[in-house]
Amino acid sequence: MGAQFDCKDSLAIIRIDNPPVNGLSHASRAAIAAHLSDAQANEHIKAIILTGSLKAFSGGADIKEFGTEKTYAKPSLPDLIGQIESMSKPVIALINGVCMGGGLELALACHYRLAHQDALIALPEVKLGLLPGAGGTQRLPRVVGYPLALHMITTGQAMKAGELCDQPGVSLFEQVYETQESLEIALNFANQIADLRPLPLIRAQSPVAVSPDIFAQARAALAQKSRGLLAPLRCIDAIEACSLSSFDQGLQTERALFQELLNSDQSKALRHAFLAERLAGKIEGLQAEVQPRRIQSIAVIGAGTMGAGIAMSFANAGYPVQILDMQSAALESAQKRIRQLYQAAVSKGKLSEKECEARCQLISTTSDYADIADADLVIEAVFESMDVKEAVFKALDSVMKPGAILASNTSTLDLNRIALFTQRPEDVVGLHFFSPAHIMELLEIVRGAQTSDAVLATCLQLAKLIKKIAVVAGVCDGFIGNRMLEQYTKQAAFLLEEGCTPQQVDRAIENFGFAMGPFRMNDLAGNDISWAIRKRRREQNPQALYSRLGDLLCEQARYGQKTNAGWYDYREGERKAIPSAWVENLIQTHATEQGFLQRAIEDEEIVERLVFALANEGRKIRKEGIAMRASDIDIVYLKGYGFPKHHGGPMYYTENLGWDYLDQKIAVFAQGHRGESWN
Ligand code: NAD
Repeated sequence: MGAQFDCKDSLAIIRIDNPPVNGLSHASRAAIAAHLSDAQANEHIKAIILTGSLKAFSGGADIKEFGTEKTYAKPSLPDLIGQIESMSKPVIALINGVCMGGGLELALACHYRLAHQDALIALPEVKLGLLPGAGGTQRLPRVVGYPLALHMITTGQAMKAGELCDQPGVSLFEQVYETQESLEIALNFANQIADLRPLPLIRAQSPVAVSPDIFAQARAALAQKSRGLLAPLRCIDAIEACSLSSFDQGLQTERALFQELLNSDQSKALRHAFLAERLAGKIEGLQAEVQPRRIQSIAVIGAGTMGAGIAMSFANAGYPVQILDMQSAALESAQKRIRQLYQAAVSKGKLSEKECEARCQLISTTSDYADIADADLVIEAVFESMDVKEAVFKALDSVMKPGAILASNTSTLDLNRIALFTQRPEDVVGLHFFSPAHIMELLEIVRGAQTSDAVLATCLQLAKLIKKIAVVAGVCDGFIGNRMLEQYTKQAAFLLEEGCTPQQVDRAIENFGFAMGPFRMNDLAGNDISWAIRKRRREQNPQALYSRLGDLLCEQARYGQKTNAGWYDYREGERKAIPSAWVENLIQTHATEQGFLQRAIEDEEIVERLVFALANEGRKIRKEGIAMRASDIDIVYLKGYGFPKHHGGPMYYTENLGWDYLDQKIAVFAQGHRGESWN
């Protein structure tokens, strides 16, 4: 295991063998190194082909060994690269499928590279807060030029080999082929070049001259779009070193910068997020034993915002979907909206006309429950009212075939009550999508008290098929995400009562790295939605502490972007949030009437109050077993609520500061305005 060795006449073939993506585990590196030594020592061998499978040349570091000492154990990747570069026989990288990270760095050390046109080429280390630490920043600019190297290394985005070799000045590959018979091509190529000397090495090439302006421009562009991120800046530093120094000096600079990033809090947080994502949705013992149900057709009840988006998520994965709504106008408008969204994707070149048509054809509409009776899975997305849900679930129970999964997209309602509207509570589950449902990656799977393991296993499998990241949550008001959000938005409103403006709160948390502050987010989602939830909660618990400011806003029909007025003002047809003098006046009047003391509040306190409100509730959610692990809570916030990835999620962030620190802060906040909210 690790790598296979084979011979064809005088040619050696070393095949990296570590499924699924040929990660460069310690065993793989050791096996490649041993086979290279054998090939070097064997006088009958004239050239070596280094390859992987059709699916992957190599996806880079092996995530199973991530963070363990095996990552750096000898032979390290730089050792292996050094070994290839000191060979006296040519080594040819034959690249199919994925060639990323350390995999690409390995290929860059070879004397020649042949690639399938669809092979995916990338140095994605920046996504983990790192940079390519085995010469990628020094070798890639030499063969693709600085602009492309800057783009690839600072974004981590993959490009197809065919696309890459069409770019001017790219000499990364000796040959890019279309056929699947790649070994034949490589054998022919090897025979042609076997005796050519000297052996070409990228490290021996001089990089093309470049104006230093290009690095200044890249830094300026980054300052605009990736607030406070260290890794992309260090990537630029390393690539700049390629232009300023010898290869060996550049390599030293790269190594020093890599070490700095490896030890940085940002990279640790990003690596936590990466591993948390892989862990999410895993339920010990479940997948192995339980047989998921077969899902071939879907029905969605409710043709509103969520219903349409959910239908698109399934159509995108090739499932036929029927949308049922009692209002024919709602059905027509949903179909129109869906077509427009697909057409927009066509205009942006993300979808072909043919695919657009095929996806639209997969989505049909009806107002008759009899039409959907045979669907394998039905997802309810009607109004957020228990009475309406009751009517729908009773209807579903009477028509749906046995074994159909009955799911609700409710954001806050008690799934266990919903399940009891049916005679088959074991088939009822929550599938909580996030808006816009066809885009957002997160899916909270709500496991009711009686939800069967088979239903859960089916939903987990289905989530993967529709490219969502699933997190399993237990039943409580708001599940994981919205229950925590309530505490966060509550604190945001309390900050206004004490003297902040919406723009100050939003700016502080956006500078911390959130995609959007709470007030801009509420204006986007619609303030009326949270208003309705507050009304329901007040009925259930009249004593609950909350700020009336959101209600006062909604009483003036300031619902957000959809009414061109919310916490901010909006110009017709525009989404830019303009600070509102009317809202500031509303806040001041409210504070005066209520006798709230006003004070200047530092950004640091704003961030702490908001993030700790999340973490404090997250801790309760974890203790109650609503979430299976703290890292699941982080994933909900990273994927569903725009929590900055480089802080790792609210639980990781607080864990690093120390839960004692959180408790000390809570003790202080509890003495302040609306202090009871921290109980
Ligand atoms: P919406 O108001 O946009 O759409 C609801 C649709 O349900 C309407 O088209 C309505 O005609 C239809 N409907 C109402 N009663 C019906 C019935 N008895 N039978 C068939 N159709 C019926 O609502 P939405 O924003 O799409 O939300 C739907 C559900 O999804 C709610 O439970 C909500 O809490 C949840 N949700 C919403 C969001 C969001 O951001 N909007 C996010 C996650 C979950």
